[in-house]
Amino acid sequence: MSKVNLVCHFCRRPFQRSPSEVRVGGRVFCRRACYAADRPVLHRRESVLEFLVEYALGHGGQSPTYREIGERVGISSSSVVRYVLGDLAEAGLIVLPGKYKARSIEVVGMKMVWEDPRG
Ligand SMILES: [Zn+2]
Repeated sequence: MSKVNLVCHFCRRPFQRSPSEVRVGGRVFCRRACYAADRPVLHRRESVLEFLVEYALGHGGQSPTYREIGERVGISSSSVVRYVLGDLAEAGLIVLPGKYKARSIEVVGMKMVWEDPRG
């Protein structure tokens, strides 16, 4: 029998089929702790996306830092912020910048148009 390598949806670690894995709607988690950690993330996706749009509108199209996002939506761990952003990117809702490029998370479909209020 060939070994099947799976990748945990939460921690992204590859693992082999085990009795402790959790499968939910096409997602597979290596252990219960990863599944449990993924739950609040689902609910935070919306608030993170909302904050990205709100922040961009108030800051000339810039995006907040991971720390600012965490503070706003109540996530204390930056790796969880990274995870939520990765999830949004995977869903095609945002585009993450390359490494070391701060404040340039792009919200897909959001276009800033500056108008002179005097016409
Ligand atoms: Zn895991």
